[in-house]
Amino acid sequence: MVCEVHTPIIDIKRFSSYIRLQRACAYALRFIYNSRTKNVADRCRGPLSTDELNKATMVIVKEVQLESFPNEYTCLINKLPVKTSRNLSGLNIFLDQNNVIRVGGRLNNSEFAYDKKHPILLCSKHYFTLLLHRHEHNRLLHAGPLLLFSNIRNTWWPIGGRNIAKKVVHQCITCSRMKAKAIQPIMGNLPSERLLSGYPFLCCGVDYAGPMYMLNRKDPDDYTPLTPAHFLVGRPLTAPACEDTTTRAVHALSRFQRLEQLRQHFWKRWSTEYISELQRRTKWKENKETITPNSLVLIKDDNLPPLRWRLGRIISLSPGKDGVSRVASIRTATGVIQRASSKICPLPVSTSDTADTGLHSPRHRQTSVESNQ
Ligand SMILES: [Zn+2]
Repeated sequence: MVCEVHTPIIDIKRFSSYIRLQRACAYALRFIYNSRTKNVADRCRGPLSTDELNKATMVIVKEVQLESFPNEYTCLINKLPVKTSRNLSGLNIFLDQNNVIRVGGRLNNSEFAYDKKHPILLCSKHYFTLLLHRHEHNRLLHAGPLLLFSNIRNTWWPIGGRNIAKKVVHQCITCSRMKAKAIQPIMGNLPSERLLSGYPFLCCGVDYAGPMYMLNRKDPDDYTPLTPAHFLVGRPLTAPACEDTTTRAVHALSRFQRLEQLRQHFWKRWSTEYISELQRRTKWKENKETITPNSLVLIKDDNLPPLRWRLGRIISLSPGKDGVSRVASIRTATGVIQRASSKICPLPVSTSDTADTGLHSPRHRQTSVESNQ
């Protein structure tokens, strides 16, 4: 009796790229083949052939399927009836000549390629499926979830494939950079200046030309500047406050008092009718995304394309009175800067996320280096 002890040829978890995994496995298989071939002339040399790469893929896939569907695999290999779970029912799975589980499906009579008629079964929770999707996403020049999913389905049948396609696109750093969205904290409270009674320009002023001095030949010592207040309220803002004239009869008022009454009426209506309209937050009703210290962010620059926006790491936040941070200090390659949240775009990389960040492109490598700081 031959008892087959299963030892995986390669540890998939050690690889962060599908291509590297495939090639490493192909080299391992070549080494095994060459070690067993006594005739030196028959040994494999030179660059890896397509045949060797395909064989390596099959070896990896068998490994993956044995880990993902152990019961089904054992049943199929022993030619026993398969008790399929709910996910696999209706797929009519079978083992092909390489002992790889494929989907039977209903396209047997079609003219499609064998891989499309009988795609290779995968579980979307397996790490290999993630690597495969990342590789395809890059090969298809950062395709969206739907295109990625339909391309994968030409050869593979990942259970729950739509979700993994979405996840891979969402986690792609390049794609995130291209459509980086600034964070939007909850709308802040109105500043006190906008809620208190006061004349226009009480707290700010417009000064385009500098003070204009009134020319008064009778009194050349009067250097009171002409301010916007003279046009808005008819007197300097420093003049004493007026008495409350809102309840007095109109006919008993002088022209100036009547003007003052109108202004007071206006304030009263503004404070009773309009202010309560401002109570509601019309947008930015909740904190959709929050930034935390040490997270990796992009710093939006209106003068540059998104791929050239600088990377930075949040070092501290400046919470307001309501506890919501709308400003953050960010460490960049050139120093520490402060930016408002509208200029900060978080990247889908968490500090603990090292295996999942992916190191399959120079950009990924760059972010992982940053997250190790
Ligand atoms: Zn992408």
